[in-house]
Amino acid sequence: MSPWPYRTIIEPFRIKAVEEIPFLTEDARRAALDRAGHNLFKLFAEEVTIDLLTDSGTGAMSADQWAALMLGDESYAGSRSFRRFEAVVHRLTGVKHVFPVHQGRAAERILARTVLGPGKVVLNNTHFDTTRANVEQSGALAIDLPVASARDPEDTSPFKGDMDLDALDRAFEEYGDRVALVMITMTNNAAGGQPVSMANLAAVSDRCHQRGVPMFLDAARFAENAWFIHAREPGFDSWSLPDIARRMFDMADGFTMSAKKDGIVHIGGILATRDPVWADKFRNELILGEGFPTYGGLAGRDLEAMAVGLEEALDEGYLRYRARSIAYFAEGIEKAGIPVVHPPGGHAVYLDAGRFLSHIPKSALPGQALACALYLEGGIRGVEVGSFMFPGARLELVRLAVPRRTYTQAHIDYTIEVAERVVARAKDLRGYRIVKEPPFLRHFSAELAPL
Ligand SMILES: *Cc1c(COP(=O)(O)O)cnc(C)c1O
Repeated sequence: MSPWPYRTIIEPFRIKAVEEIPFLTEDARRAALDRAGHNLFKLFAEEVTIDLLTDSGTGAMSADQWAALMLGDESYAGSRSFRRFEAVVHRLTGVKHVFPVHQGRAAERILARTVLGPGKVVLNNTHFDTTRANVEQSGALAIDLPVASARDPEDTSPFKGDMDLDALDRAFEEYGDRVALVMITMTNNAAGGQPVSMANLAAVSDRCHQRGVPMFLDAARFAENAWFIHAREPGFDSWSLPDIARRMFDMADGFTMSAKKDGIVHIGGILATRDPVWADKFRNELILGEGFPTYGGLAGRDLEAMAVGLEEALDEGYLRYRARSIAYFAEGIEKAGIPVVHPPGGHAVYLDAGRFLSHIPKSALPGQALACALYLEGGIRGVEVGSFMFPGARLELVRLAVPRRTYTQAHIDYTIEVAERVVARAKDLRGYRIVKEPPFLRHFSAELAPL
């Protein structure tokens, strides 16, 4: 496909089914936010105009995916839909033993319960929070080894998702045989959706294989990562996206995947390995918790939709549009006057609330103040990723995640306009205090009050 020569970003799809979005008065939004204890997770979806809480399971399925649902074979064992799904995963990844699971964390749980345990260590560029929780639940130690640039929101390095290779060498020295698994999360969600380079993947893979340590990918955003390699890494601009993706998977011994991201389905996930011994363990654990190996935690129709979505996610025109649209979104927010994390990642824009609302101390949760202001001003729902979500966090961010194929450029422009209005009254914004909180994962259900 030739590069897009026009200034205007257009959606590479037209719309066949529409879903109304709610518009509330400012008074109604204020009442909703009060009822929700100023916690955006507790709003009703009907109270949100543009929902940028997450890109997980919120994408729009294509006509081909909806059509594929009707082809679902709901046989308990040996379903045709499983074989179709498995063939697509084999073609994309080349990894032999493929298990469907209901979502990414089910794959992580099976992996953790079968091959991890007390005393073991997992090294990752940055564990996603459910991955870390599953590793730790098994009694193993989860260690993050991001590159230094990942910590600096102003650093514009192209591959801030890379693993720090010196830190990896040191961790191998320190933990020796205790290292049971190395994982590469692509893109690196916790670090702002930043991609991992092919060069880094190759270097990590070499080190693992010299030591006989398996390397797994957390491949939730494998297609967006492939796009960034195509667009940013020297030597890959002439490669097709499926070839890049295949090369990424070729370096790994297996992977976990939430298909709710680049599978573009509402529910689904994958666990896969090349190792027949691990495959046996996975199969046994799968049957215990998810279901028979030819359906995992899903219906036959879900497997059909996933098979179609996994291939659509690698469409070059779609990925070019998505990356460009998110970059445009980030540029617009920054022009409006709110600093963002650079460079823009693959699935979200991260607003630096700590810098924007420098008059609000960390203890008064500037990220939550900005997230609530965006909702009050225009019904935009984002999520605080700072001291409220992770007590002790270094940065006070607000993530605006972009669901796949769901919103148009006009929705992006509207969101930027709402941000401009928030900027105009930035100095009036106040912080928050927590009035009620549960013992863990407080950001989902805590209640807050404005100061
Ligand atoms: C979403 C996500 C997961 C967990 O997947 P679920 O489908 O939400 O269970 C794991 N890793 C990464 C990088 C993710 O983004």
